[in-house]
Parts: sequence; structure tokens; C-alpha cells
Amino acid sequence: MSTKKVKVRFAPSPTGDLHVGNIRTALFDWAYARHTGGTFLFRIEDTDTTRVTDEYIQAAIDTLKWLGLNWDEGPEVGGDNGPYLQSQRLDIYAKWAQTFLDNKDAYHCYCSPDELEAVREAQRKANVAPGYNGHCRELTPEQIAAYKAEGRGAVVRMRMPEGTTTFTDEIRGDVTFDHAFVPDFVLVRADGSPLYTLAVAVDDVLMKVTHVLRGEDLLSSTPRQIRVYQAMGVAPEDYPVFAHLPFVMGQDNAKLSKRNGEVSIAWYRQAGYLPEAICNYLALLGWSPGDDRENITMAELCELFTVEKVHSSPARFDMKKLEAINGDKIRALTIDEFLSWSLPFLKDAGIITGTDSEIALVKSALPLIQERIVTLSEVPAMLAFLFTKNFAVDEASAPKIADAESKKILKRALSDLTPLASWDHASIEAALRASLIEEMGLKPRIAFTALRIAATGSTISPPLFESMELLGKEVCLERIAGAISL
Ligand code: GLU
Repeated sequence: MSTKKVKVRFAPSPTGDLHVGNIRTALFDWAYARHTGGTFLFRIEDTDTTRVTDEYIQAAIDTLKWLGLNWDEGPEVGGDNGPYLQSQRLDIYAKWAQTFLDNKDAYHCYCSPDELEAVREAQRKANVAPGYNGHCRELTPEQIAAYKAEGRGAVVRMRMPEGTTTFTDEIRGDVTFDHAFVPDFVLVRADGSPLYTLAVAVDDVLMKVTHVLRGEDLLSSTPRQIRVYQAMGVAPEDYPVFAHLPFVMGQDNAKLSKRNGEVSIAWYRQAGYLPEAICNYLALLGWSPGDDRENITMAELCELFTVEKVHSSPARFDMKKLEAINGDKIRALTIDEFLSWSLPFLKDAGIITGTDSEIALVKSALPLIQERIVTLSEVPAMLAFLFTKNFAVDEASAPKIADAESKKILKRALSDLTPLASWDHASIEAALRASLIEEMGLKPRIAFTALRIAATGSTISPPLFESMELLGKEVCLERIAGAISL
């Protein structure tokens, strides 16, 4: 890559929640800026006012913050090249469009949608490349006057000269586009609003962006952007460096979309994935650190990220791998970190309200489940038994303790636990092993499953004796007695 001080930008159009592909791009942009000691610029491309909403813009900002992808220039942070919302820069685009018109790089096109459709239809029939046929390129003043008299509106179109555009993509190598397939394109709609190609190119120049790392789906818009740079008078050595990141595919090898996988980052957040896990996993989608490690921290990513190590072939999204990484990241949390990630899930599920005593009990219980869960959303179900006011054995488990054998086990446990002086997990276990396993000769799985159901209401719970300790003697004995009389 070039030796310029790096400025790399992430420029989403928030027409919905940011998805896996967007965030993979944002992550690579961020990591590249951090690796090079450059600037990470965040710009909102909201010129399509029919599809971008304020809520989605705010959600995009929140998602980046939540993931820890902090930016140096952009919304909320500011910077010397703002505003960073394109909707606040419309006069800038209008001025450049006018300059292009004045210099004859662009022209007004009066063709109606019906006429354009007729051209496309004729091109389809003749089996030639679709695109604008240049009808309005050289209109005479009389023709223009006639169109205006008809009351027609006009778009601004960029004149694409004959020839080719070649640029070096840092991932794909030299890429050439023949302009026969890059027809004159619209810069400004008839209502005066700018199109993506105009706004993105003008902003990359004015915001002094040096590197454009973005999804492969935008590869074909590059020759148009380069045409805008030319019309702005930018010297070729000052064009940004391009690197188009490989597609992210679903398990079925089709491009990842709502259809073949969960794509919204908001969904992963709600489902209890940690931002570090998402970033770790997405970092491996199309990039590798150079060895086969799968657990990397954000600091390691910044240290190791280079564009040379980005693959050119598509990456496949693998939910199982993301789950495994999330489980690893949960296990690596300190108990205080685990606590603060878990509390919102417990509150949202209505398990706790957040009193000090509840929080203290959650904190004592978390070590019991840290090894056992893959997502934070499992925490409420795992810990509900400690807090429930209306305890009941779950429907699937109730029949398993309804038989005479189970009642016998529970009665014996009740009578042996009742006199127990110290209620800690070691004493509980010793008492139960002595009576149920050694004296009654039961298999541990049978004896302890019955007790687990009686005490926690389910066959799935944190470790039994520790759970019983946390529940406290009184509650445990009550629940066992209740199970006996079920
Ligand atoms: N705003 C464009 C999009 O979200 C991306 C702009 C770019 O990276 O060039 O698709």
C-alpha cells in the first residue's frame, strides 16, 4: 500500500439495521486505521431519504459504539471535514454538479422514464449491453427549449468518454472496466437530490480519504467514482487506494442475506453475543492472522491486520464457529464483567429487578454457569430457579419425579438434609452421597436428577450442590417437600 498517512472511512447507508457484511467492512476499516496509526472516519450516506430513517442512523451509531469501533472523525465526534451526514452536505454536491455542467463533463438529460425503458427494451431485444444511449449528450438549444416548454424535468448525467478505466485494487490486482459497459450515469435526480456516486466520490475527495476498503458489491461503481475524481480535477496519484473485500456467503453458498442466515447485528446483540466475539469472528471472515488461531483480541487484530492478508475468495458464514467463539469469550470474562453483561438480560426477562441482594446472589451464581453457556441469553433460564416467587417444576420434568422410587429418594433426602448444621455444597453433597448412594445403593444420575428437578424445577441447571447452597436450606427443604406431595 502507499506511504500516505492513512485515512480510511466507513460509509454506510442505514436503510435498516447494520448487517454482518456492513460490520465486517467497518471492522476491517477500523483495524486498518488502527494498524497504520491512521484516521478512521465514519460518514452516514443518507441521501436516499425515502429509505434512511433517523432511527436507523442512530442505530448505526450505537452499533459501532457497542462493538468498540471508535471513530476519529464523524457523527458526535466531529472533525475538520464535516458535516458527516450527507443530508447536511447537499449544497456541496449541487455546487460540484454545476461545475461538471459548466465544464461539459456532465449534461442535462430530459429523457422520461418511459423513454429510458423503451431504450432498455430495445437493447434487450438486440442483445446489447444495457445502459443510457447518449440521447441527450449533444442537444441543441432549440431541443432543450422544446423539452423545457413541455415541462420536462432534467437529471444531470456524467459524460463517460470512450475507452477504459484501470485501477489497482489492493486485493484483486489490476481491474479494468471498458466504458462500453459503463454508460453515462446520473449524478443528480430531476428533483435536485444527489445520487450515491456523486456524493461518495465528492466526499472521499473533500474528506481526504486515502483508502477505500469496502464490499465487493461496490467494485463496479469504482470506474464511475474515478470519473468524478477526474471531473473534480484530482490528480491520479491522489485517488484513494481501493480494496474490495470478498462477499460473505451463507452456508448454502449464496450471498449472505436474510434468506439464508441471520444478518442483523442487532439480532446478535439481543441473542446474547458479546461484541468481542462478533468482532473476533467477523475478523476471520475473509482475513486471517497468518496462522490458524481462531481466538484473537481487538488489540491483536489491530496489531496484525494488513490488507495483504485479506483473501480474494468469498468467505462463508458459520454460525457454529461464532457460537464457539462466543462461549470462549464468555469464559474469559471476569465475574464482574460477566455480571454487568448478564444483568440486562436478567432484568429484561423479568427474573430480577436489580436490588442489591439480587445482584449479590447473581454474582455468586455466575461462576456456576460460566462454563456452560454459549450466549448471554441463556443466563435468565439458568438462574430463574434462584429468584422465582411461584416455584413450579417444569411440565417436561414433573412426570420424572412422580413415581414411587423418586418419592422415596426425595423423602430420604429431606430427612437427611433437615438436621444438617452447615449448609454449604460440600456438606450437602457428603450427606446425600452417604444416604442416597452408599446406603440406598442408588446410581448418582438417578438420585441427583430427582433432587435437581425438585430443587431447581428442571433437569437442566447449574451444578446441583452449589445450586442448593445458593438457594438456602429453608427454600430447598420446602421445595423437596413440595415435590414429594406433588
Ligand atoms: N453507502 C454505501 C453503502 O452502504 C457504501 C459506500 C462505500 O463504501 O463506498 O452501500
